[in-house]
Amino acid sequence: MRMRRAGSTFGRRLIIENNKNGAQRPAQGAPRGAQGSGGPRRNKKKKMTAGRVLGAIMRFIASCLCVCIILGSVAAVAVSLYVVKETQGDSDLLDLTQLELAYTTIIYSQQINDQGQPEWVEYQRLQSPEENRIWKPLNEISPYIQHAFVAVEDENFYTHPGFSFKRTVLAAINEVFRKLTGSYLTGSQLGASTIEQQLIKNITGEDESSGIEGYARKVKEIFRAIALDNRFSKEEILEAYLNTIGLTGNTAGVEAGANQYFGKSAADVTIAEAASIAAITKNPSRFNPYTNPEEHLKRRDDIILFMQQQGYITQAEAEAAWATPLNLVEKTTDENAAVQTDYSWFTDQVISEVIDDLVAENPLGRENWDRKAASDYLYNGGLRIYATVDTEVQTALENVWLEGKYWESMPIENYDDPNNPDDTPRTITTQAAGVVINYKGELCGVVGGLGQKTENRGFNRGTEMERQVGSTMKGVAAYPLGIDMDLINYSSVLMDDYFPISDGKGGTRTDWPSNWSGRYSHSMTTVYEALKQSLNTVAVRVGDMVTPRTMFEFARDTLGITTLDENSDVDLAPMVLGATTTGLSPYELAGAYMMYGDGGRMTSLHSYTSVRDYQGNEILEKDIVTTQAIGEDTAYIMNRLLHSVLFDAGGTARGIHPDANIMDSIGKTGTTNDNKDVWFVGLTPKYVMATWYGYDENEPMDDYNNYYIYKNKGSQKGHPGASAFAEVMDTVQADDEIVTWDMPETVEKGAFCTISGDIPTDGCPRGTGYYKVGVTRGVCAGIHATDPAA
Ligand SMILES: [Zn+2]
Repeated sequence: MRMRRAGSTFGRRLIIENNKNGAQRPAQGAPRGAQGSGGPRRNKKKKMTAGRVLGAIMRFIASCLCVCIILGSVAAVAVSLYVVKETQGDSDLLDLTQLELAYTTIIYSQQINDQGQPEWVEYQRLQSPEENRIWKPLNEISPYIQHAFVAVEDENFYTHPGFSFKRTVLAAINEVFRKLTGSYLTGSQLGASTIEQQLIKNITGEDESSGIEGYARKVKEIFRAIALDNRFSKEEILEAYLNTIGLTGNTAGVEAGANQYFGKSAADVTIAEAASIAAITKNPSRFNPYTNPEEHLKRRDDIILFMQQQGYITQAEAEAAWATPLNLVEKTTDENAAVQTDYSWFTDQVISEVIDDLVAENPLGRENWDRKAASDYLYNGGLRIYATVDTEVQTALENVWLEGKYWESMPIENYDDPNNPDDTPRTITTQAAGVVINYKGELCGVVGGLGQKTENRGFNRGTEMERQVGSTMKGVAAYPLGIDMDLINYSSVLMDDYFPISDGKGGTRTDWPSNWSGRYSHSMTTVYEALKQSLNTVAVRVGDMVTPRTMFEFARDTLGITTLDENSDVDLAPMVLGATTTGLSPYELAGAYMMYGDGGRMTSLHSYTSVRDYQGNEILEKDIVTTQAIGEDTAYIMNRLLHSVLFDAGGTARGIHPDANIMDSIGKTGTTNDNKDVWFVGLTPKYVMATWYGYDENEPMDDYNNYYIYKNKGSQKGHPGASAFAEVMDTVQADDEIVTWDMPETVEKGAFCTISGDIPTDGCPRGTGYYKVGVTRGVCAGIHATDPAA
């Protein structure tokens, strides 16, 4: 529902139409009936007595009366039926106590109340970036403003019943007079609309129209005005009116107007300023104080006169007001400082997602429906968005990212952007983002950048940024499919050495893929060791067994990753090592790992579940789909492999995890070439969190290893993403009931020889692994040829 400016000329147009219709038609029914009844006697008697003439006239008048009464009754019934039908929804539509809410879109979050029950609590109110409106209660609006509007728009406002019979009749006579003579009887048109009628027009947005429809609308409007007046006090009506009147541009309501024109609140305006605001609304372009100050001042001074004549101000006050210059504040953009609202990163995301879905689904079935129209509707439609934000998670994320202690800023001075040679060299620093989801696919929290958030709906690195994900990709397709397809198990051994691929010159590369350590062990290595240490060599061999095509289709079709390129990403480097053409957002990466914490299931990601209009009609319902992406057994085996990353010797984020006494956790690190991107995905039985760290400019973090190192370097910081994961989870899970990942019946624990990966025999070094029940495993021969110690 959009606001329209108040008008006061509705009655005039209407009366013209009424008059025109009356003039074109004969008085309905009467003459024809009179001729018919007198006709047959004409030739029989040449002389008619006076009595007979009188009788005929009487019968004629009686017939006319009857016809008029019948027609009048029919018309009255028709009008009543029309009005009843047309005003059926009025109790909601014209509920002034709900009017403020009808224009304000509110995001709700689910909270657990004191009784342990979930309930929806207001999370954020949205302020349109375009519409400038601030609702104020009547006692915070200067009496000068109230008096100025009443004096000029509706001087008998406080005493009439919502509709002024006298004014409507006078306006009609005035219009008839103008039609006959070409000029108004009173010298100018008379406004027939009361403040109630103008308010109804503002709320319903119904335009005046001509002909029968215009007449019907006028009747409906009068009916509504009287009903409104019966239901609400004059104060409530005036408050609603003053808060909804249209002013210049996108400004609506007297508070926004006072801010805009005079740089003050509506509570503090002078008599002259109050009259100025009241002067604009009748015709905001004609009486625009910036572009038409002379016309504006003429009308302002008239209003001051009306205020004085009606006893609201003294003659001396009026004279002082007339002498006052306009004194407008410098015209600013519509982004008035008073209406700025700071949205969280979550709010930014849910706004984007709702707009996307509104555009796609067009729930109102409107024509010319586009992003702009959907955006206007979102901000001004009084929507209720039931969001998935977990305020505890969101707050914890915001606090950790605001402080930013886990991420060295590593400034690069005099940075000259190679993509923008005209750019002035500047200093760039690192950035970081984080996303937390739960196993219902709900976005619980997101942070799109470090430090204080500076703008609404700026670039959100948590959900909008696409960057290569490095080794976290190994957990997306290669390893889970290798296990799911029974190509490998927990302790299968593969060669830690280069993987032969073409060098493009007819030869074979012997340096690909490199491990992050820069070394190959040239020995058979278990999947357990390889995943824990993130060895590229072994992962590539697993991916080769699964095949790039199978990995690609799984990532795209089953996990729903939208950014993969069919032409360039169906290969080992993209599908195993994350060297994809574009990349993934932290949000998508978290989604891809969900299966390891939820028995192999993946649920589609969303930041809201339902959107309703302010009257409670559901206009969007999120389609939430759960897919069994991999077997429950595979998910648990992967879960235990990822556990080793945080808990076992040699794990790439060993020792950095949430308090294991509260909740278990698993994770995976990922780094792209030259430390351009440093990723971490961590899971607990309740949440999945993904973090990214790097430069927006995609530059290498040359000093990364001076601050962070995976192995024992004493005082150096641990993995930044894992550290943030540990802190956020320890904060939000501190008081939670402990939830565990239970081993499914389809998986069993078993010992393995850490050298051969087979079932150990006497003398084998042992580890404990997790295997599908019934999987075929060999028995170690006890000859450890590849054991460097052997
Ligand atoms: Zn052995």
